[in-house]
Amino acid sequence: MFRMELPPHAQTVLSVLRENGYRGYVVGGCVRDACMGLVPHDFDITTDASPQAVKEAFRDFRVLETGIQHGTVTVLVEHEPFEVTTFRIDGDYTDCRHPNDVTFTESVEDDLARRDFTVNAMAYDGETLVDPFGGQADAERRVLRCVGDPDTRFREDGLRILRALRFSAVLDFSVEPDTARAIHRCRDLLRHIAVERLYAELRRLLPGVNTPAVLREYADVVRVFLPDVSDAGVRAVENTRGDMLLRLALLLAGTDAESALRGLHADNKTIRAVCELHTTDLSDARHLLAALSPEQAYRRVEYAAATGEIGAKEAAEYPAKLQAVLADKSCLRLRELAVNGRDLEALGFTGAQIGQTLHALLEGVLAGTLVNDRDALLREAARQKNKV
Ligand code: ATP
Ligand code: MG
Repeated sequence: MFRMELPPHAQTVLSVLRENGYRGYVVGGCVRDACMGLVPHDFDITTDASPQAVKEAFRDFRVLETGIQHGTVTVLVEHEPFEVTTFRIDGDYTDCRHPNDVTFTESVEDDLARRDFTVNAMAYDGETLVDPFGGQADAERRVLRCVGDPDTRFREDGLRILRALRFSAVLDFSVEPDTARAIHRCRDLLRHIAVERLYAELRRLLPGVNTPAVLREYADVVRVFLPDVSDAGVRAVENTRGDMLLRLALLLAGTDAESALRGLHADNKTIRAVCELHTTDLSDARHLLAALSPEQAYRRVEYAAATGEIGAKEAAEYPAKLQAVLADKSCLRLRELAVNGRDLEALGFTGAQIGQTLHALLEGVLAGTLVNDRDALLREAARQKNKV
């Protein structure tokens, strides 16, 4: 028999529904995670109470009307939010993503039938597991399978294709063969999905334990929205730790990553980080740390090792070099230089000369031809001034 520990706040939501004469279940990801022996990170609730009735039942709680037209209200139990959604059937889909309309229903089984995968289509009321599609068995064997006909389900909502890859990558599921074939067949439906959604799923997919295998198997799917991804890029992800930025940069190795990521409306921070991993010169540890944050510098070395840009020996030795530079607290940035713009002004430098000379001094310090000592740097600056 299935048993699942419900934390007190989730239990409160189910109890309030029951006290008001309604049925309530925890549903979706939390039941799946419990079947797999994982600790759920949040609890979604499904109920036969209409959104209006949910608001009424939770009159003593704070309630937010987050998606009331789809039947969802958020109930706060001591600041912890719970999405409470009325059992519903989705209407026809004409935009490959959203149902045209939703209808509320009395049947929890009908509600479960609209959900994407068998493992996500289970509900639990504290006593009984409702599992009409064999989700528990699939969760235990780690099989991802569409509810109903896979082609139909992907045609309703193309984002499910990427959700499938994400669950397979992160939860280490194999994809059931009919579902897998439909993913390949339906991949072009991703063209109808908002790029922000594609990008969000891609980010969540990349750190998974099973990501390398998923990328290899479904490279054709990834190329629908990242057409320039090469076989070498896919292979490079193999044997890397589950780091989103590292794997994104590897996947996009040899491509115009900036354009590709802009096309997905990626955030500037990610774009900059990926481009840094592609282009920063690696020939010297001190220069590398002058150009990048320590975290990015280590990542840059991992990137270079995974693409074969540096050999295994160099890759193994490089971290110690980075550590040594970091440990000696040497000057790596203009602001750490023992002289500043005002010092150079006092020597008679003006305008753009000031910045240029500071950069030249820093370069000398990084290269080891100058020491970061005020008198030494002032002497060198004066010498350069006399040259011009
Ligand atoms: P996690 O939150 O761990 O990523 P989850 O399964 O909770 O996984 P959510 O996106 O939070 O995923 O969705 C909650 C539930 O809603 C899912 O378990 C599934 O039953 C249903 N669901 C979500 N998105 C879709 C979709 N695009 N098509 C069909 N059902 C969906
Ligand atoms: Mg969830």
